[in-house]
Amino acid sequence: MRKIVMKKNIIIALSFTIILLSPVSVMHAQTAEQNTYARFIKTGVEQIKKGDYQAARDSFEGALRITDSAADGHLGLGIAYFHLKDDRLSERELTRAIEINPRESTAYQVLGELHYRKDDLEAAASAWEKAVELNPSNENLRARLERIRREHKTEKDFNRDVTSHFLTKYEGREKIEAGKIVLRILEDAYGEVGRALQYYPSSDIQVILYSSRQFQEVTDAPGWSGGVYDGKIRIPIGGIEQETPGLRRLLYHEYTHAAVRAIASRCPTWLNEGLAQYFEGREVDARQREALRRISEAGNLPPLSNLEGSFMGFDGNQAGYAYLFSLSAVRHMIDKYGMYRVKSVLEELGQGADTAKALSTGLLVSYEDFERGWKRSLE
Ligand SMILES: [Zn+2]
Repeated sequence: MRKIVMKKNIIIALSFTIILLSPVSVMHAQTAEQNTYARFIKTGVEQIKKGDYQAARDSFEGALRITDSAADGHLGLGIAYFHLKDDRLSERELTRAIEINPRESTAYQVLGELHYRKDDLEAAASAWEKAVELNPSNENLRARLERIRREHKTEKDFNRDVTSHFLTKYEGREKIEAGKIVLRILEDAYGEVGRALQYYPSSDIQVILYSSRQFQEVTDAPGWSGGVYDGKIRIPIGGIEQETPGLRRLLYHEYTHAAVRAIASRCPTWLNEGLAQYFEGREVDARQREALRRISEAGNLPPLSNLEGSFMGFDGNQAGYAYLFSLSAVRHMIDKYGMYRVKSVLEELGQGADTAKALSTGLLVSYEDFERGWKRSLE
C-alpha cells in the first residue's frame, strides 16, 4: 500500500504571488518615493516566490513605511505572515488590504486559507466564496471551495479530541476507542521522529478519521491510498479495537509528512516520501536491492530531479518504483551523512533554497555528487 501526499495547499500558496506581480499602483510609479515603494514590493514578491518569508516581511514593512494606504503592501505582508504562521498579524494585514481595496480577491483567498488552517471550515468557505465571486476565473479555488463544502458537510457532526500535539475529529461513538489508539500512536511518532530530527512542530496537527466512504468523498484519493497528508492527516479507519502494525506504519508515515511540511513548506517529493517511508520502518528488501542494482547498471535510474514533483500522475507500477528510488536515496543520505545533515537540508529548503542549494549547504556535496554516491552504493 502506498500513500499519497501533498495535494493542493502548496499550489494555492504559490498562486498568490502571480497576482502580486502586477500591482496597479506600481505601474504608475513616478516620484522617487513611489519608485522606492515599487522596489520594496517587487523585492517582497521575489522573496515570497523563493520562500524567504522573513525577508519578504521586512520588504513589505519597508514599503508600508513609505505609504500605509496601498492594498498591495498590506496584502504582501499578510501573505508573508501567513507563511511565517503568525495568524493574528496575517489576518490583520489581509483585513486592512480588503478595507483599502474591497475587490482584492487574493486577500480573501489567503484569509480563507488562514481559517482553513485553524479548522474553521465555515469561515474559510465564506472567504473563498467572496474570492471566487471577485475572480470567477480562479478554477483552482473554485474546486477547493467545492471540496471544503463536502468536507464541512461530512465533518460538522464529528467529535473532537485535543491532546497536547494533535487535534482529532471523527464521527460516532464506535470510533472513540479507535481515536484513542490513533492518538497514542501519533504521540509516539511525535516523540520518535522528533528525537531523530530534533524537531517538534509548534502548532497542533489536525487528524481526521473517516469511514472508507467518507474518505473517498472528501479526498478523491485513489482506492489504493492508505492515507493522505494535505496539511491535515486524513485516514480511513473503521471501529478498530486494537492497534495493528499497519496502522502504526501508516500514522508514522503521514506524521513524517506533517513534520517535514512544518520545517520546509516546499520539499522535493523523493526526499519527503523517502523520509516518510524511513520513519514508517520500511526497508529496501533483498529482491528490491537486486532490482535497483540491475536498473542502475543498465543506466535506467532516473535523475532525482525527475522525482521532485508530485507522484500523483504515476500509474501503480511507476509509483512503486518512484517510492523505492526515494527510499533508497534517502536511506543512503541518512547512512552516509547522518540525520543531523538531513535535517540541515530540510532547514535550507525551509529557508527557500532549491534542492541543489539545499543539498550543497546541508550535505556539503553537489546534487550530482550526491546522486553519483547513491548510484555507487547500489553496485
Ligand atoms: Zn507519503
